[in-house]
Amino acid sequence: MINKLDIDKIFEAARVEEVVGDYVTLKKRGVNLIGLCPFHDEKTPSFYVSPIKGIYKCFGCGKGGHAINFVMEKEMLSYPDALRQLAKKYNIEIAEEQQSPEDLQIQNTRESLFLVSAFAQKCFSENLYQTDEGKSIGYGYLKERGFREDIIQKFQLGYSLTNRSAFTEFAIKAGYKTEYIVKAGLTIEYTSQSGNTKSIIEKEEEGNQSDEKFAEVEKNTNATQNNPSLPLKPLASSYLDRFWGRVLFPIHNVTGRVIAFGGRSLRTDKKTAKYINSPETDIYHKSEILYGIFFAKKEIVSQDNCFLVEGYTDVISMHQSGIENVVASSGTSLTVGQIKLIRRFSKNITILYDGDSAGIKASFRGIDLILEEGMNVKVLLFPDGEDPDSYSKRMSNDEFKSFIKNNSKDFISFKTNLLMGDVQNNPIRKAELIKEIVLSIALIPEAIYRSVYVKECSRILDIEEHILLNELNKLRSKKFNEKNTAPSPSPSVILNKDENVLEQQTSEEKKQLLDASGEHQERDIIRLLLNYGKNIVIVEGEGLDEDGQPISINISLAALIIHELQHDNILFENLLYQNIYNEFVTHLVDDKVPDYNFFISHKSTEISYLTVDLISSPYILSNWKKNSIFTTMEEDILKKSMYNAVYALKNRRLEVMIHDIQKRLKENPPEEETMTLLQTQQGLLETKKTLNAFLGRVIVK
Ligand SMILES: [Zn+2]
Repeated sequence: MINKLDIDKIFEAARVEEVVGDYVTLKKRGVNLIGLCPFHDEKTPSFYVSPIKGIYKCFGCGKGGHAINFVMEKEMLSYPDALRQLAKKYNIEIAEEQQSPEDLQIQNTRESLFLVSAFAQKCFSENLYQTDEGKSIGYGYLKERGFREDIIQKFQLGYSLTNRSAFTEFAIKAGYKTEYIVKAGLTIEYTSQSGNTKSIIEKEEEGNQSDEKFAEVEKNTNATQNNPSLPLKPLASSYLDRFWGRVLFPIHNVTGRVIAFGGRSLRTDKKTAKYINSPETDIYHKSEILYGIFFAKKEIVSQDNCFLVEGYTDVISMHQSGIENVVASSGTSLTVGQIKLIRRFSKNITILYDGDSAGIKASFRGIDLILEEGMNVKVLLFPDGEDPDSYSKRMSNDEFKSFIKNNSKDFISFKTNLLMGDVQNNPIRKAELIKEIVLSIALIPEAIYRSVYVKECSRILDIEEHILLNELNKLRSKKFNEKNTAPSPSPSVILNKDENVLEQQTSEEKKQLLDASGEHQERDIIRLLLNYGKNIVIVEGEGLDEDGQPISINISLAALIIHELQHDNILFENLLYQNIYNEFVTHLVDDKVPDYNFFISHKSTEISYLTVDLISSPYILSNWKKNSIFTTMEEDILKKSMYNAVYALKNRRLEVMIHDIQKRLKENPPEEETMTLLQTQQGLLETKKTLNAFLGRVIVK
């Protein structure tokens, strides 16, 4: 482990433009440098280096970071090894330090989980070839699905025996600690006070339907174990395989290590869930991973497109048909984390879903999420009852490839065609359809793409462009007001802030609004802290000075934000944001404000990456592209941005509380409760009003 002082020295010495300059030819462009991205194939440069900020960022593939990240990424090195390499380059002597026991512990746990998962994969694969049961049932199933031998091997498919503890016993015998086998989600620990194992097995049998029930059983046992105040009766533990009697699909992380499994049951009874997945573990976070990403990433980059399918077998069948840029969001509906993972390799996604109504609904949701991340999306729906797996088997590889090519539609044509059918000559339905499509266009962050889609929409729907633009602007400014993100170049938009926005919305929109957490608001506050925390703003203090003028106080923006949030005991729901915020609070005790360099070189790589993301946000991006119009704007109206962001978050919390009350009221609670609820609601509504009035005042000033 390298000592912190040396790490700081390396960070100081390693100028990002020099380090990157060793690999990329950079040209000066304003205050920045620009070149061809070394991480993806491009002909016009979208790779920026900002010597002032000490970071690089590619606006093509999204890669970004500081000098050390660059070396890690380019040379495929771990963080400490990248530091060592740079220390050599800059002749910095480093004193290696012992790792703290906690650090070692965390690292060891993760590594142990990787090791036991790799071991499990090997066992399950061997079962396919070396046991009678595996050969007849497991291998039999895969052959019946039409999977080729090379494909079975490539995806490391396997089989777990029907003996309920075969794997667990085998792993323990091979020397793996039960603790890690359980933590990796491969084995479930059951304890019972009576020691009646039979009843436990029955219980698990019922619980086998869903992961949730598993979790419940596990949680209960943990609670009993960890609570020393409970009477100490002898506990009988038994360990059973999670995936018994199932064909297994190992899930790999981006670097190709096995982190989890999906298991398909071959039993036909209704009680058994067809698919179960590993639970969340220290190495497996469902919402951040996509099935097949390791096998797909190279091809996603070279095709500059990623196919998104629904299941494990869809991914595998497409590989078998020679299409390798394909991933699945198995086990969850598509998440922002997964979309960001794809964006590391390409900005283009094609959704291939079932043509049934569930598939269509899923694709609508997916489209909006993808658009909101600033990516391009196409859609291909298979005929009802078909999926990529079934379809690819019916055609030759070439036929299948050209089917996909010819039937992928951009999202406007897709939505229009789908909804046009029942519109025909009904003008009201047509108006609704247009609204629906404009709603999606409004999600696209980049104005230039929005305008392209407006043109396209105008053509397809035969509607004048300015009408669409008008509708679009209405939606955008409404969205803007909801989010209260950084002020737009024309502050007049903010003046539209209208507390009745919520009332004017349709119930569906209202629901969406309330479903969402305060993620955007939280992110915006952290963005302001990182970019401008040190900036001094002037606020009015209480009382008057000797000339009878209001006292003005100079205070850092960070201190003002902390003051505002602590006043209402507001915490962040996103733990990463809370951690960054806590650092500011801690530093402020010593009257210091950390700047983004502190966070860029933070020991948590998550914090470091987030910081890079936030300090190269679109507002600053504009600055990189055109002089510094937007940044100046934002600094000028810093205090306004601050109040916007903080009050938007407070407002959001209020809305959620009001929503909860209204929900309870609809259930016709007892009269007494109704009275209390109505009173509370009244109070919240008044607070909201004051908040908005205050916000209005700050903005107008
Ligand atoms: Zn790039």
